[in-house]
Amino acid sequence: MDEFDSPMYRAGLDQLDRTARLLNLRDDLHQRLRHPKRAFIVSVPTEMDDGSTKVFTGYRIQHNLTLGPCKGGVRYHEEVSLGEVAALAMWMSWKCALMGLPYGGAKGGITVRPWELSDRELERMTRRYTSEIAPFIGPDMDIPAPDMGTDEQTMAWMMDTYSILRGYTVHGAFTSKPLLLGGSLMRREATGKGAVYVFERACESLGWKPAGMTAAVQGFGNVGSVAAEALAALGGKVIAVADRTGALHNGNGLDIPALIAHAIENRGLIQGFPGGEPMAPEDLLTTRCDLLVPAALGGVIDERIAGRVECRGILECANGPTLPEADSVLEERGIVVLPDVLVNAGGVTVSYFEWVQDTQHYFWETEEVDTRLRKIMVHAFDEVDALAKEKNVSLRLASLMLGVSRVAEGKRLRGLYP
Ligand code: NAD
Repeated sequence: MDEFDSPMYRAGLDQLDRTARLLNLRDDLHQRLRHPKRAFIVSVPTEMDDGSTKVFTGYRIQHNLTLGPCKGGVRYHEEVSLGEVAALAMWMSWKCALMGLPYGGAKGGITVRPWELSDRELERMTRRYTSEIAPFIGPDMDIPAPDMGTDEQTMAWMMDTYSILRGYTVHGAFTSKPLLLGGSLMRREATGKGAVYVFERACESLGWKPAGMTAAVQGFGNVGSVAAEALAALGGKVIAVADRTGALHNGNGLDIPALIAHAIENRGLIQGFPGGEPMAPEDLLTTRCDLLVPAALGGVIDERIAGRVECRGILECANGPTLPEADSVLEERGIVVLPDVLVNAGGVTVSYFEWVQDTQHYFWETEEVDTRLRKIMVHAFDEVDALAKEKNVSLRLASLMLGVSRVAEGKRLRGLYP
């Protein structure tokens, strides 16, 4: 599909095509899965603080709604494009099905450098984007959540704008909202913690001991910082961290709680933290460590980097960090890739819990959320691990086989519409 053409979308299609071959998927079902169901491009005129108007471009893509309403985050980043959003929406479809959630996949975004906007400008842009996509979203249709560059405050503005348009307070149209507005306990930590629950289970399967393992983490936002903290809590040593402004290294392990406290005081950035030596950000991915944790942008591990990484395993917290050509290199080198659709699914899983709680107007304790999250992550890993061993395929292909086959089966059962 030319209109979606981009490295990320080609990577997504390549994965789908390989998976379809392994599954012997019926051609008509395969073709339908290659096409997003709906794609919206919206213009987002925004008044800037100096009185001028800037027109941003926003997207929302609903890949499929076969198993239920669509679910997926909204990304604010300068590299957001139609093709990137389409790839991310497709991955959400496989992820939700893999985790057994009653959702299809979606994604949204605005091409913007959010760090250059004031809070007021961000609010005006967010409210305008929400009103443009409002006819196509809702608790039974499509439920956005945060992704890179967006957070609980963004969700509060979106939920408020949507509620104003409906004329009453709607909780279930967005997830990862502030607690007071129908959010769930543990949603903020869910992606990073869920990733580390998968890692712990994988260690049992692989015979690895998490205590003492060294890790390098790319991205220190919502996902990267929580994953780093959870790895350190298991006795791991996070020796390198990067964000969009630079990278830090400390061979004895960075003090992650102190780095988080520093970032909170410093607009989310790691720069200026005294507990590590600055390093070139491009060296982070090839730093010698046991575990590499990409937790920022997609497409960062290409064939060249794959030949140079010096780790035993990759915990893919970001979406689409590894390009398909890189996968084969990593496989040949015996590097274990714990794949994104499984690893970072804790976020959408607790988003599902939030939506269920909103629907019931009954909210759970942290322990209940945490216990259910761990159970679902461990169960999904076990299913993937068993299939990978049975079919002698990578954990990525096994995850995709489970996700894709469930969406395809839903389409077969329902017919041509969804
Ligand atoms: P975030 O905006 O909170 O943090 C992003 C981090 O990446 C920041 O530290 C930023 O400085 C850093 N970064 C940006 N560009 C970079 C670059 N070129 N090099 C190094 N670091 C860079 O975003 P997030 O919510 O933590 O999302 C991170 C990744 O996790 C994304 O790929 C997202 O799709 C994925 N993800 C997020 C969730 C979630 O619940 N938030 C769920 C599943 C997957």
